[in-house]
Amino acid sequence: MKYPNPFMLLRIAQADAYCVATEYIKFPRDAELQAQALRFERYLKHPTHTLRPGQYSDDTQMSIAVAETLIDKGAHATSDDYLDAFYRCFKRDPRTGYSQGFQHLLQTSTSAVDLKSRIVPTSNKNGAAMRSVPIGVLPNVTVVRAVAAMQARLTHDSEHGVLASQAVAMMSHYALWTNEEMSMLPTFLADHDPRLAVFKRSWAGPVKGPDVGIKTAHAVCTLATLSEQMPLLDTLQTVIDWGGDTDSVAAIAWGIASTRRRHDTLPEFFERDLEPGGQYGASFLYDLGERLMTTGNIRRRRAAGENPTGSCPICSGSAGKPRPICACGRSWTPYPSDDPGGLCRVCRRVDRLEDWADYSLPKKPVKLDEPTKLDEVSYRKGVTDTLSMLTGLVVPLLVPVLIAAFKQPPSPPPPPAATARTKKHRARGKKTP
Ligand SMILES: [Mg+2]
Repeated sequence: MKYPNPFMLLRIAQADAYCVATEYIKFPRDAELQAQALRFERYLKHPTHTLRPGQYSDDTQMSIAVAETLIDKGAHATSDDYLDAFYRCFKRDPRTGYSQGFQHLLQTSTSAVDLKSRIVPTSNKNGAAMRSVPIGVLPNVTVVRAVAAMQARLTHDSEHGVLASQAVAMMSHYALWTNEEMSMLPTFLADHDPRLAVFKRSWAGPVKGPDVGIKTAHAVCTLATLSEQMPLLDTLQTVIDWGGDTDSVAAIAWGIASTRRRHDTLPEFFERDLEPGGQYGASFLYDLGERLMTTGNIRRRRAAGENPTGSCPICSGSAGKPRPICACGRSWTPYPSDDPGGLCRVCRRVDRLEDWADYSLPKKPVKLDEPTKLDEVSYRKGVTDTLSMLTGLVVPLLVPVLIAAFKQPPSPPPPPAATARTKKHRARGKKTP
């Protein structure tokens, strides 16, 4: 890992707790609250929510659940493991701040199994994306996408619910694992999924309304792309200015942007007043972040004598079993010399960054286009745009080739017109000289 970020969960919590006060605020009623928030003097209270100033919301609690699952079981945690963690984290530290329906389910469920049986997992909002930043610690982008999709389908089994989660996990992975500039992030995303090519246009405006899941990921991508030039406080200021679902956008954006901005200093209250009196505040979050960073670093984990699953931490295979399947989908035949219980060859290869085939990145940074208006962005047109772009390139090349193919061969030049002398010779039955 190039940029381990033990602050990841702490920053998610701080941004969430700060911006939950401005989530979907109304104007002109809350204009003074927004002005106060832009001064960064203290945590504030939302005009209608019951969360106290400094308390974080569902974005952080569910990110904690994902982080704990990854620390415990790595990439081969099942969807039930994630659901268990959502249930466990809420029950040990109940709080408001979840969406109304999910809050009710969590409060009234009697077990994780009960919770699972009652979820209607069809939402396309940002609930799966908001908890996906920790997944970026996994060291292979294929595995990152697979794990993000699996945990997203528990609650957001829709095209854009899943895609938003994958996009956030990939952004986090890019910031942690590559040495490339953040300005190339949109290209990286589009290379892995053409539907995300729309993220090359920069976001501006409130993050709300239909399809808020993919809009959240888009807004975060714009902020993350600029993160090497933009201090963390400026990121938060932009989120508050945009409005809409400010806590989710801010939490995800800080979770990713803080990876390349670990040395930013923040006003003291951000840490001092976070989760006042709570058991799961700043020191808990920092410790969790520190442990999470070693999840993706298999060698460091093994050097520390840790192997929590008793087999390969990435795939569930172990030497001695014939052809185990790695989480990335490849099968593996162990050599007799393989260390029983050690890493399989696939995962050893994954652990060596220089062998990765995933990072054939272009060398020029992407220049973000002019900001788009909220309603002008049509995400469903992502693939269509790509196809029409390809058509636009191919057709001008093909047309001259086709014209040349169907063109008649040139007719031979007409015989020279008969001269008066030739006509005379022909009349006498003599050969033309
Ligand atoms: Mg929230």
